[in-house]
Amino acid sequence: MRLSQMLFVTLREDPAEAEIPSHKLLLRAGYIRRVGSGIYAYLPLMWRVLQKVSQIVREEMNATGAQECLLPQLQPAELWQESGRWDTYTKAEGIMFALVDRQQRELGLGPTHEEVVTAIARDMIRSYRQLPQTLYQIQTKFRDEIRPRFGLMRGREFIMKDAYSFDADEAGMKLTYEKMNQAYHNILRRCGLKFRAVDADSGAIGGSGSQEFMVLADAGEDEILYTDDGHYAANVEKAVSLPPDAEPSPFTTHEKRETPGTETIEKLCKFLKCSPTQLVKNVLYQAVYDSGITVLVLIHIRGDQDVNAVKLQNELVKLAAQYGAKTVLSLTVPDAEAQQKWASKPLPLGYMSPGISDDYIRSSKEIAPKFVRLVDQTVVELQNFVTGSDESGYHVVGANWGAQFQKSPHVVDLRKAKAGDRAIHDSTQILQTARGIEIGHIFQLGTKYSTALGATYTNEQGEEVPLVMGCYGVGISRLAQSAVEQSYDKDGIVFPVAIAPYHAIVIIPNVGDAEQVAAAEKLYGELNQAGVETLLDDRNDRAGVKFKDADLIGIPYRIVTGKSLKDGKVEVVQRATKAVQEIAISEVVSTLKQWISEATHR
Ligand code: ATP
Ligand code: MG
Repeated sequence: MRLSQMLFVTLREDPAEAEIPSHKLLLRAGYIRRVGSGIYAYLPLMWRVLQKVSQIVREEMNATGAQECLLPQLQPAELWQESGRWDTYTKAEGIMFALVDRQQRELGLGPTHEEVVTAIARDMIRSYRQLPQTLYQIQTKFRDEIRPRFGLMRGREFIMKDAYSFDADEAGMKLTYEKMNQAYHNILRRCGLKFRAVDADSGAIGGSGSQEFMVLADAGEDEILYTDDGHYAANVEKAVSLPPDAEPSPFTTHEKRETPGTETIEKLCKFLKCSPTQLVKNVLYQAVYDSGITVLVLIHIRGDQDVNAVKLQNELVKLAAQYGAKTVLSLTVPDAEAQQKWASKPLPLGYMSPGISDDYIRSSKEIAPKFVRLVDQTVVELQNFVTGSDESGYHVVGANWGAQFQKSPHVVDLRKAKAGDRAIHDSTQILQTARGIEIGHIFQLGTKYSTALGATYTNEQGEEVPLVMGCYGVGISRLAQSAVEQSYDKDGIVFPVAIAPYHAIVIIPNVGDAEQVAAAEKLYGELNQAGVETLLDDRNDRAGVKFKDADLIGIPYRIVTGKSLKDGKVEVVQRATKAVQEIAISEVVSTLKQWISEATHR
């Protein structure tokens, strides 16, 4: 491509709308344009990058035996009602764009495709002889993200590769999952990215085991906790660890103490001269289920620890059936206004005890009459602890389970693991923290969707059993931007060779110089002929402008037909290292071919 003929516009200034480096650079370098909130045009350079990422993904998917297809983006509401996700996706998460057609039928724009693909499997897979099967597609997805941001990182329309596997049993599904795991490692390595695979929460998709693939970058939205021995890495949402040991309590007898102005843990510990590890903190949450019932949740957790809201949400979803519900629509810490809606009298905030009476909840058919009391593991063994007294300005010290307070039998792990904690697999390993961009997620789904939609097959014994599924996503457009987030310098983007829009750019410093033009045209032709994807900067512009632009767009190799032409040479600059070499014109093609091959066969 000749830059003189391309729709190529670069910006000198950082666009005000962009916050993180990759977003700024992609806008400045003319890769993308914003069309609306979370909606972007992929301009010609970007489209080439996306095609390259897609091709690598396609090759690795095909290598696992998966088959490419294309599923509809318009999805009938009935399919989502069958799986029970219509309400969650249109109301709770609100992520699905839903619409009504002219016949008054409800439809959704596909945020993901479990329902569609399971309905197809239900119709087409009859016998164990047809298994296993994996389908995948590379396609635009729609999600009404509450906070679209960072350009392609979190769009409302974006490109995803999603794959769905169907196996005869759990063991078969685990084999398929393992192949995908390997394919994902290959994809990221081939794209030239630094990444980590981590244990992940399965969220609204459901199922058992799942792993996320994180591209490491400071601007990443996710926190990763890992150990240096390489045996543990998890998203903080899912992470587990050993809490620090509790210090022995200095209080030996149970008594009520006046503790004025100590509604925070810090103030209380200072006042009582004790450690937060001797405290049972009682944290109040308010959950609204999809049946319309509001449930008040009281968590007892050690004073030095925090609640992990994702673990809490998962625990509460397990209780949904008790409230005639399928899922939790919202989970919040109720402020004064929210409390007024259900409290029968003012709560002793900051001074609540584990035994606080259910009388604080007003009687109403929309409100569960009792607190759900969840005991975090960190408080189970505490003795002679400090906690609230249900009276403002007073705490109790030297309290014990079984004596002053009855412990709810509902003991769970709700604590948030944090950097500095000891690892569970080896207590000498300390959790480290890093930031990452989630570019892929693989799930062992099990039979959740096949059971809901009745996707069964006949096994070898002649029994009708549900298909065992897995699902596997890669954010193609997010991956492309995360490559930039991981690789740039003060002058612009430094694209990994494997996914750069072009391998090389030939620059003519002075288009008025016939010799420069002739040499450049010849190289441009020969390079493209040899499969080295090459741009030609033949614009009638100053050389400095061309060099700046070449650096900004991040093409790996720059070839300049300048002063050394008289010796039969050109200047070749590597974008990543800025290393400059003079190379004989006759050797340029073979040299670049070799560099590209070395850089992409890793
Ligand atoms: P996130 O937690 O970032 O919202 P997710 O858990 O919703 O992601 P999945 O449903 O697993 O994501 O989708 C698979 C992949 O699609 C993700 O790993 C991510 O790379 C990409 N992706 C998801 N949402 C978006 C988005 N709004 N914009 C761009 N890419 C996205
Ligand atoms: Mg999401």
